Amino acid sequence: MAFLAAVPAMIRQFSSVLAGLVALAAGLVAVALVRRRSRRLARSLARSSARRRGLEQQLRERATRDPVTGLANRALLTALLADIRPGLTVVLLDLDGFKEINDELGHQAGDALLVQVARRLRDALPDADLMARPGDDEFAAVWRGPAPAGAAERALARLRPPYQVAGRQVHLTGSAGVVVADGQRTSAEVLRDADLALQAAKGGGKDRIVRYDTGLRTAADRHRELAAGLRRALREGEFAVHYQPVVRLADGRITAVEALLRWHPPGGEPIPPGVFIPVAEATGLIVPLGWWVLGRACAEAREWHARDGVSLTVNVAAHQLREPDFVERVRGALEEGGLPPSALVLELTESSLVADAESTARLDVLRADGVRVAIDDFGTGYSSLAYLVHLPVDVLKIDRTFLATAVDTTLMRAILQLAGGLALQTVAEGVETEKQAAALRALGCEHAQGFLFSAAVPPEELDALLSGRLELGAARAR
Ligand code: C2E
Ligand code: CA
Ligand code: CA
Repeated sequence: MAFLAAVPAMIRQFSSVLAGLVALAAGLVAVALVRRRSRRLARSLARSSARRRGLEQQLRERATRDPVTGLANRALLTALLADIRPGLTVVLLDLDGFKEINDELGHQAGDALLVQVARRLRDALPDADLMARPGDDEFAAVWRGPAPAGAAERALARLRPPYQVAGRQVHLTGSAGVVVADGQRTSAEVLRDADLALQAAKGGGKDRIVRYDTGLRTAADRHRELAAGLRRALREGEFAVHYQPVVRLADGRITAVEALLRWHPPGGEPIPPGVFIPVAEATGLIVPLGWWVLGRACAEAREWHARDGVSLTVNVAAHQLREPDFVERVRGALEEGGLPPSALVLELTESSLVADAESTARLDVLRADGVRVAIDDFGTGYSSLAYLVHLPVDVLKIDRTFLATAVDTTLMRAILQLAGGLALQTVAEGVETEKQAAALRALGCEHAQGFLFSAAVPPEELDALLSGRLELGAARAR
């Protein structure tokens, strides 16, 4: 605690020296004024008093205590970490759902709650060398060396019992990131890594602890690299759309094609959608990417539709559906591509469909135009069948997990019956074997998609499949 205790004293000393200097400067300026020297001096007064105000301001900003809880603030935390040694441990803690409580009960009650939280944390971690509140609902505990075993667990446990604020009982939990300095990293890096662990804890479902390891950093670096790569790829046109046939099980005819995004950075390996789509979603890049896919696919599918009556199905991310000009943009893509609305199916996951009334209203507008809507990966989302009646849906795409080992006939039959009752078309995804196809046919599933028939292929290859120059089954998964 000694080195920590010394810091406020150092800051106080620094402040008094600074105050002395400021007073001296002010005195000198005053003398100069009395002598009524030139206007230049008056200007320099203005400058020096501005400087004085600046210094005072800096001093104020350097104040070391959080006025609400009395804990150290971020400035002090950072100052202390400047003297970083191997083994120093930081537990960074964030309150889950504090913002909602604060919004609901008001800031005064929010502050009162923070005071109680601070008290509990101090009780739970009496041996910490420093307790700080570096952010709104963020707390930090620092030990000069290793933290005692179970410290972070104790802190989270202490936060769980209910609180009394503003005559109400409220419940709160916390998430924590733990990092141990290794002597290689600067204090800023240690704080950043603690934050990374904290974000992982929050992302992992809250009320939990994540200890930093280099894997977290690697994942974060990879995420950043991919995000930068995606931006470049959008600019430089590195994307392509491939198409996977959807086949009618009764006669094996291709009735639709699903547009699937492909990214092959020049000079590198192709990056699978399972890797880059989540990054595109997290960064919001999925919105421009999604529009690009829709525009491209509408144009490429025009001939397939005109010649072979094939529909086009395009994946739509939840973010994209929430864009206020969603309807206009879909109409625009259809018009530019020369594709009739009845040829387009928009694929959405259950969760993005259930999200909000405005989005479903947008889909209804497009459905009135003739565009169809499919639920993608059906059976992996909410899976509450009751709401299905109320959703603007025309097609159910049954997730491939239902085919994982053998066709789960009981479940599959129930889903198909439900779909039949609601007059929904059905597509079974991920059909890889003839046996699966036969079982689906026997159950009355209308359509299927999967490597048994074809993987997603470039437009030229799809053209060959449609014209019969290439057999289905020849373009399986590679
Ligand atoms: P999805 O929409 O469920 O697409 C089907 C995925 O299953 C595709 O993976 C496809 O290649 C794969 N697949 C098809 N048949 C089989 C099979 O028989 N067995 C197995 N194991 N897999 C099969 P892909 O192309 O890697 O895409 C993965 C996901 O990325 C897609 O899942 C979709 O959620 C997303 N995605 C792809 N393109 C787009 C896009 O343009 N926009 C958006 N928002 N998401 C996209
Ligand atoms: Ca899909
Ligand atoms: Ca799917």
